[in-house]
Amino acid sequence: MTAPRHVSQILPGVVEQIAAPGSGRKLKARNCKACGETFDPSNGDQVVCGSVACALQYARHKRWSDEAQAYRAKQAAKNTASRSTGPGHQASQAVNAFVLARDHDKPCIVHGASCPNREFDAGHFQGADEAPELRYNTWNIHKQCRKSNRGAHHRKKFRSTTPAKFEAGLVARIGQDRVDWLKGPHGAKDYSEAELRRMASIFRRREALYRRLRESRSNQIGLLEG
Ligand SMILES: [Zn+2]
Ligand SMILES: [Zn+2]
Repeated sequence: MTAPRHVSQILPGVVEQIAAPGSGRKLKARNCKACGETFDPSNGDQVVCGSVACALQYARHKRWSDEAQAYRAKQAAKNTASRSTGPGHQASQAVNAFVLARDHDKPCIVHGASCPNREFDAGHFQGADEAPELRYNTWNIHKQCRKSNRGAHHRKKFRSTTPAKFEAGLVARIGQDRVDWLKGPHGAKDYSEAELRRMASIFRRREALYRRLRESRSNQIGLLEG
């Protein structure tokens, strides 16, 4: 690589900042973003003192930080995409379906038998955002009416009361010790894709088992009553 002969070969934006003629109005002195020395800017956008070395250093730094920002944005987009399609999502769906089968005959964890709502979700005590390591933990997930589950994330009315009621219902169901454990702290958990696939298949089997048990039970009841 040959060294730039003129500052205009470095970065167009920086050149304008350095080489633009003064507006006539004297600007307040500022510190160079590269060397930190004080200089008198010739226009409002000038961020480096005017030395080629500083312009180069700043241009390189700017390219790095732009690249880093682009990389972070790309990773975030990838995470969002895999959250709704990838093996993590499949495992989550399988666990949630299992929980709804397990809790089929139990009432809403938040309101108990008096719950006025008839549509249910698999609700997380510790949300996936606060405690991603509990996303597939079956102590953490229980049948919960859709209204309080979905409202809890968005509406103040639900946010203020639902967590406390969920916790009370949870203590009654799994005991204070397990609830204390769920409240953490726990280490972060990174499952491999293979582990997530295995988990999905195990929970699908467990869900099917619960469904068959329930069916055979209701058949027996049908025979007894019929
Ligand atoms: Zn400088
Ligand atoms: Zn409810």
